[in-house]
Amino acid sequence: MAVSIELVQGDITRETADAIVNAANTSLLGGSGVDGAIHRAGGPAILAETRLLGGCDTGDAKVSTAGDLHADYVIHTVGPVWCGGDDGEPELLASCYRRSIEVASRLGCATVAFPAISTGVFGYPVDRAAPIAVGVSHSAALASGSVRTVRHVLFSKRDHAAWVAAAGDLGLPVVLSG
Ligand code: ADP
Repeated sequence: MAVSIELVQGDITRETADAIVNAANTSLLGGSGVDGAIHRAGGPAILAETRLLGGCDTGDAKVSTAGDLHADYVIHTVGPVWCGGDDGEPELLASCYRRSIEVASRLGCATVAFPAISTGVFGYPVDRAAPIAVGVSHSAALASGSVRTVRHVLFSKRDHAAWVAAAGDLGLPVVLSG
């Protein structure tokens, strides 16, 4: 079955999806950027659960409830900190998208929304992150049993444009909004 890729400019905490992915850190205890926004909008139920998860390795993903968000689950994944690109960053970033889709598929999710993992405080260059985000999430969704829509929610116009360009380079049709 085909997979639909949606590229949206906006705030991921306002999205409706089966699972919303969080760009977390290894503690899973909350942080800045999209992590802070998800915990604020979702309420204390998310932290109450992530406290019990024992942290998360870089490149891996773990799941919690979504609290007050319009989703069933939050999938917390930990992107790599950019250290110049020769420290396994591309493989770890790819792993974040792959593992998040795997976890979503295990839960039976059809629609998964992603932020631009690692491209904020963690410093991953947007133009290098975009093809990994679009390409790996698409192939992982195709291989999954249940994920049929992957929605990338980009906070800025510039990031949205980078994701659009990456999808074009990969020859993948997208649904655009924002
Ligand atoms: P990381 O630590 O993985 O770099 P950040 O949260 O610092 O995570 O940034 C990841 C991306 O999330 C950045 O592009 C940032 O602009 C974006 N972002 C921040 N808040 C939101 C939000 N509410 N919705 C969607 N994206 C957001």
